[in-house]
Amino acid sequence: MNDLEQAIEEAARLIRNARHVVALVGAGLSAESGVPTFRGPEGLWTKHGEPDLRDYDRFVEDPKRWWEQRRERASRLGELVQALESAVPNAGHFALRDLEEMGRLQHIITQNIDNLHQLAGSQAITEIHGNRTKLRCVLCNHRWPFEDFSLEELPPRCPDCTSGIVKSDTVMFGEPIPRDALDECINQSRRCDCMLLVGTSAVVYPAAQFPVDVKSSGGVLIEVNPNETPLTRLCDVVLRAPAGEALTAVVERLGSATQ
Ligand code: NAD
Ligand code: ZN
Repeated sequence: MNDLEQAIEEAARLIRNARHVVALVGAGLSAESGVPTFRGPEGLWTKHGEPDLRDYDRFVEDPKRWWEQRRERASRLGELVQALESAVPNAGHFALRDLEEMGRLQHIITQNIDNLHQLAGSQAITEIHGNRTKLRCVLCNHRWPFEDFSLEELPPRCPDCTSGIVKSDTVMFGEPIPRDALDECINQSRRCDCMLLVGTSAVVYPAAQFPVDVKSSGGVLIEVNPNETPLTRLCDVVLRAPAGEALTAVVERLGSATQ
């Protein structure tokens, strides 16, 4: 048995023995769907430099202008937008869906905005950075599918609470994580006794804190990432392989053991 096979065996054992398994997911899971990551050797920031960190401040200062400039921004992030438009779930997304259906995964906390967990059929999902196919009221956090909303008047106002301004659900740089999503992440991390860290470089807060909390309350951590991350040293098991391959192998291992 090689190192990866051994790690898969051990990961399956930890998942089988856990009561509440949570997957913390990052951009690496969608890399095999052709969506580029930000960091890492092929990352967009590595190639094009860091983005505008004042994005949310600009929205707050002048929401009308922010909406008007959306098209311009979309063309600057053209590579990512194009990849997102045509992306479909990969084997890693389907493996997470299978784990949930097998009763082995209770929740997904994703930093991805790409809607691919939903397209794969996963149910219990918290999107800490929002969802690119939705809009959200900054005041009451009500969300709508993009296409259900009229953008005739800018900035759009929330029809529910009537005073909030509506923006894309995707969390911008400098924007606070929506309270409802953050509360659910905290709740899930408290209950979690086994966390899968899938394709995340684990440097973006608050997501980077959840595994630390799980570990310090006695839970176990399983990393699925072809590269080392700052959290690797905290992990009980490390699967050094792309998520599609590694997670599929874990599902197979769990499936064959329960038959
Ligand atoms: P990141 O870009 O910082 O890091 C990606 C991680 O994925 C790296 O550790 C890399 O080693 C790993 N990785 C690369 N290929 C992989 C594979 N095939 N399988 C498993 N892991 C692989 O990503 P991040 O930590 O999620 O943080 C960046 C932020 O950017 C996120 O919070 C997210 O909001 C946003 N983002 C989202 C998308 C998306 O929705 N798909 C894409 C790019 C960025
Ligand atoms: Zn509202």
